Amino acid sequence: MMTVQASKNETKIDEIDLDAPIFDSQAFRLNDEQVAIITTARRLGQNVFADRAAVYDRDATFPTENYRDLHRSGLLGIAIPRKHGGLGADYQTYAIAAAEIGRYCGATALTWNMHVCSTLWSGPLADDLEMDAATRAEHERRRAIHYKRIVEDGSIYSQPFSEGGAAAAGGVAFGTEAKPVKGGWLVTGKKIFASLSGHADYYGVLCTEVAEGEKASRRNTLYLAIPAKTDGVFVVGDWDPLGMRGTVSRTLLFKDAFVPEDAALMPRGVYFQAAMRWPHMFLTLSPTYVGLAQAAYDFTVRYLRGEVPGTPPVKRRMYPTKQIAVAQMQIKLEQVKAIWFQAITEARANPTKEQVLRAYAAQYSAMEGANEVATLAIRTCGGQAMLKSLPLERIYRDSRCGSLMLPWTAELCLDRIGREALYETGESDE
Ligand SMILES: Cc1cc2nc3c(=O)[nH]c(=O)nc-3n(C[C@H](O)[C@H](O)[C@H](O)COP(=O)(O)OP(=O)(O)OC[C@H]3O[C@@H](n4cnc5c(N)ncnc54)[C@H](O)[C@@H]3O)c2cc1C
Repeated sequence: MMTVQASKNETKIDEIDLDAPIFDSQAFRLNDEQVAIITTARRLGQNVFADRAAVYDRDATFPTENYRDLHRSGLLGIAIPRKHGGLGADYQTYAIAAAEIGRYCGATALTWNMHVCSTLWSGPLADDLEMDAATRAEHERRRAIHYKRIVEDGSIYSQPFSEGGAAAAGGVAFGTEAKPVKGGWLVTGKKIFASLSGHADYYGVLCTEVAEGEKASRRNTLYLAIPAKTDGVFVVGDWDPLGMRGTVSRTLLFKDAFVPEDAALMPRGVYFQAAMRWPHMFLTLSPTYVGLAQAAYDFTVRYLRGEVPGTPPVKRRMYPTKQIAVAQMQIKLEQVKAIWFQAITEARANPTKEQVLRAYAAQYSAMEGANEVATLAIRTCGGQAMLKSLPLERIYRDSRCGSLMLPWTAELCLDRIGREALYETGESDE
């Protein structure tokens, strides 16, 4: 079993009884290696991050201390292959660990996802994609540079792709452009809602490589880790949102920012291939919200049992209306967990149409379901439970943000499921 060396008061960490795992290892057939990684995340979340979450939320500040702890515990490199010094977690293990973090601090889990994707996409996911031998060797050399920075220096990567147009939904080429020049690219463009802005060491920017006189094409998407300190990189605008306040998702501007070739997190053409052949890559925003759904349920059970510290020890569990509400929450939570677990378990290259539709349905269920459970929790626990001194109102606000996340917003999931269920590829009514 792995040990967390994250907190100043380590004894306390080991002494505290942990909440039960969201996914019981026997029931969900998780192996010992997975359990070790997931337990590290759960322990850090419950014993360290939970106490800090209110301050990051109140002040809308980035959870810098949590990132130091993620580094010390090895979780910053959770998806980095072992041969590169990481924990070597697969997609499913990462997703469950992220749900456990989201249970205790939504903003940390969501930003950690942006960071982890830079290693998951360039790591296990890229290993599934086609590359000729020379390209793969070059990719191996380059990703080792990125992984070393993360494992040894604790470098943090972010993942700004939203631009406010149709690109983040996958409709058109990214408007942020990389012009090839000697030794690299000059990047110019704008990214909105760039979580970790001002706090990441590298911005994992999705942009379009466009040579002089060429037309922008989605096929030429590049995924570049731009050092935050590069000349021509600016963080602008303020950040005072409803929820997920600790993500600090401000606006990034790039003006002829020079980026060297080794900044590429994926070789040319491989991001486009991934988006086509590995669609579950876009499901990774959902674990945070599975964790939030569990958190809202946990809070409600404790509250109605009169066990939440700092609240009047009034038991409400004997009222049938409360029992029915808790039953509704439990049913919703189990529905979310079941479809989501299936989707993260079958994530792979070239999934079947059924698996892709299930992934959309899992994303929709997690994102909308988290807010449904949190809404029921507020109604059921009552007025005193939504005071800012307790975590429930933060869970409620954070959970509201899930269905807005591109490219798989709740609306776009409905849109795609409906269309793809009724039409085969290439079919039309003409
Ligand atoms: C807390 C938080 C953190 C975030 N962090 C990041 C980050 O780190 N990196 C990042 O890249 N982005 C991030 N985002 C941005 C997020 O992924 C979305 O891009 C953003 O919320 C979209 O806002 P918008 O108003 O521009 O949406 P719009 O693009 O205007 O879309 C509004 C709604 O219209 C619908 N819609 C959009 N396109 C279509 C279409 N083609 N067909 C049908 N319906 C459509 C969608 O349902 C969408 O919700 C974050 C957002 C939040 C709230």
